Amino acid sequence: MKVVRHYPLLTLNTLAIESTAEYFAQPKCEADVQACVQFAKSNNLPIKVLGGGSNVVMSDHVSGLVLQFTGKSCRVTHETEASVTISVEAGYNWHDLVMYCLSRGWFGLENLAYIPGHVGAAPVQNIGAYGVEVKERISAVSGVYLDSAQAFTLAAHECDFAYRESRFKQALDGKVLITSVAFTLSKVAKVQVSYAPLNKMAEQQGVPTPSELARWVIEVRQSKLPDPNQLPNAGSFFKNPVVSQAVFERLSARFPDMPGYPQTSGVKLAAGWLIDRLGFKGRAFGPVAVHELQALVLVNRGGKGSDVLAAARQVSQAVLECYGVELEQEPRLFD
Ligand code: FAD
Ligand code: NAP
Repeated sequence: MKVVRHYPLLTLNTLAIESTAEYFAQPKCEADVQACVQFAKSNNLPIKVLGGGSNVVMSDHVSGLVLQFTGKSCRVTHETEASVTISVEAGYNWHDLVMYCLSRGWFGLENLAYIPGHVGAAPVQNIGAYGVEVKERISAVSGVYLDSAQAFTLAAHECDFAYRESRFKQALDGKVLITSVAFTLSKVAKVQVSYAPLNKMAEQQGVPTPSELARWVIEVRQSKLPDPNQLPNAGSFFKNPVVSQAVFERLSARFPDMPGYPQTSGVKLAAGWLIDRLGFKGRAFGPVAVHELQALVLVNRGGKGSDVLAAARQVSQAVLECYGVELEQEPRLFD
């Protein structure tokens, strides 16, 4: 494994931001990671962990040592008649894993089809789509602490998973490299079609098999989300805000058609709806624009990280002024 100086990150982030890592390496096993930690210590470098680069905003120069874990194995660690537990290395492509599991008759990930990125990042923001969060399928997360180079395994209940949140974005933010994730999947098909587009398709075509459901998810996503290879983006740029019932009622009085989804902690608003209603679909802020079909997505036509952040500030400021609701940025800053 080589540590390379001044490594270009343009093709390693889906916003296609031109950026250079001070140092870059691709460890493929725990021992490689431990060697990288020693290298960083000896040279007094901070470590930044990159997966597929689909949820990050790069600055022009990323200081320190950027590590991208490339181990991609997937092995069965436990199996019964009804379920299987697999341990998957962090460098495995997420969507490929979903399709591989379906091909083996292991169910539960199909709503999460076509999400870009690597397996190692899935627990970080507890990826979710169409009513399923990955925390429901994770049994454990393993990795290496970046200060001590010690290996660890955390059971799912120790990961503090919440809506697009986890311990890896809070107390352990920047402190670990996840090397593998264990998932427990069902061998019994049970599909989740509660979200409107899937529900509508189920009404028209009947209850899908898990493989059919994955195809529907891919179809719906392709119809409204820009392909990062054609139009660079980082998916939803803001998290959906959760507000109190009182705030929701006040806003509903002003905007009767505003969607709201009850949660244990309040009511979840659709950030895309808030932005769309301001007439921002297609609006450009220099090289960065709000996507024409999905207002929650910012697309980048050759801008830098600072252009993306400036556009995001304009959008969130307008939302704050109109609704009094603060939007939280979802992609992480790499600087
Ligand atoms: P990166 O962007 O490389 O990293 C994201 C964060 O995780 C960074 O903080 C990084 O340091 C950390 N990280 C990455 N790998 C590791 C590791 N091995 N160990 C420790 N930390 C690590 N997200 C959803 O939840 N649902 C969606 O439906 C969804 N749809 C998307 C659609 C599009 C078109 C795009 C571009 C993005 C979408 N996303 C979605 C966001 C993104 O794909 C996910 O957050 C994904 O899990 C990020 O994976 P990544 O490997 O690209 O991570
Ligand atoms: P959508 O179907 O247009 O819905 C808009 C928002 O309303 C979503 O964000 C969703 O919240 C919420 N919603 C819709 N139906 C709901 C229901 N029955 N119960 C609870 N909440 C509901 O959303 P979309 O933009 O096309 O995305 C579809 C799915 O893919 C969503 O789950 C979204 O999170 C996911 N996605 C995520 C990203 C990302 O980068 N994070 C990018 C693209 C798509 P939730 O977001 O909480 O589900």
